[in-house]
Amino acid sequence: MIGRARLLIDLAALAHNLRVAKNAAPTSRVFAVVKADAYGHGLVSAARALGAADGFAVACVGEALALREAGIAQRILVLEGAFCGAELAAAAKFGLELVIHAEWQLQLLEKDGTRGISRLWLKFDTGMHRLGFELDAGMDALMRLRSLAPVPLGLMSHLACADEPTRPETAVQIERFRRLRLQVPDLPGSLANSAGILAFPVAHYEWVRPGLMLYGVSPLSGQRAEALGLRPAMHFGASLIAVKEVAAGEAVGYGGDWRAPCRIRLGIVGAGYGDGYPWRGATAGSVRLHGHRVPIIGRVSMDMLAVNISKIPAAAPGDEVTLWGRGLAVEEVARSAGTTPYELICGVTRRVQRDYSPESSLDPGVTLD
Ligand SMILES: *Cc1c(COP(=O)(O)O)cnc(C)c1O
Repeated sequence: MIGRARLLIDLAALAHNLRVAKNAAPTSRVFAVVKADAYGHGLVSAARALGAADGFAVACVGEALALREAGIAQRILVLEGAFCGAELAAAAKFGLELVIHAEWQLQLLEKDGTRGISRLWLKFDTGMHRLGFELDAGMDALMRLRSLAPVPLGLMSHLACADEPTRPETAVQIERFRRLRLQVPDLPGSLANSAGILAFPVAHYEWVRPGLMLYGVSPLSGQRAEALGLRPAMHFGASLIAVKEVAAGEAVGYGGDWRAPCRIRLGIVGAGYGDGYPWRGATAGSVRLHGHRVPIIGRVSMDMLAVNISKIPAAAPGDEVTLWGRGLAVEEVARSAGTTPYELICGVTRRVQRDYSPESSLDPGVTLD
């Protein structure tokens, strides 16, 4: 079947990867992170597939409400907290848990009250310097929160460098969080993202927050997902929509930057940056065709990209091409495009048709070269 770019989401892989996270942090409870449309996998479908999680974490109240509207009943943690009184009211009405990371949010709570909010997670900055209170300000915030109407509290922070486990910064952050917890040992703590779960068991505490690993992407630099027991959940495929021969010296694509060094067979794939394939992927990237890697040539267009298929004489229009997924890890595509897999999986665009498979119906992804 000739078609344009399409996504196949393997729901069984999501459930499997959640089990990997749970096994890695057996004494912690799990907030499955499904922000940004579940990292591009589809918020509600992914959340249902991840139904064994103790709760979900999203970036904003809007994402939390979309989950509640779909009937998701688990705990939901809003990682950036509420931005205004209306969001606080919605959080109360729908039983959300909110991060509180700044003085202005504390003032919002002091003004509007905490009634109905399921839990407030006070976020400390232990070294990432993105969100969170400094130590003293945070302890002061804690006292002010405790003087409001009683609401369950928790302590959280976020690791900046856990994906590179040999970096010294993580130990410093973990130690700061440990000392913080000693001051308020009665409150549940949450520190670890995917990389923290896999590489730093001392950072697990009561609640872990896996994101990337749930989607089958390795959170640890230099380690393959497969070696960590993870299964990729996103398969980004397309078809060859044209095949042609190009003479030596002829240019291919916009700008004519690429010229054929000899007579070549060229395949045109029906996917481009308008579908979320990285424009910069052209420099060193390849796609998978008939079980082989074939290099991208010329610039990636909005709706198409060109590949050199000289080594695959049997290739014909309609043949299935893998942009990333089984047999071609998104980590590798990200490396050749000079970006991170997070950006690629979040960036597949709306026009790409998404299908969900309960069992994997894909080919096993054996790569021949
Ligand atoms: C996105 C996010 C996570 C999940 O991180 P991964 O690296 O995808 O596992 C956890 N905690 C916070 C605060 C986040 O913003």
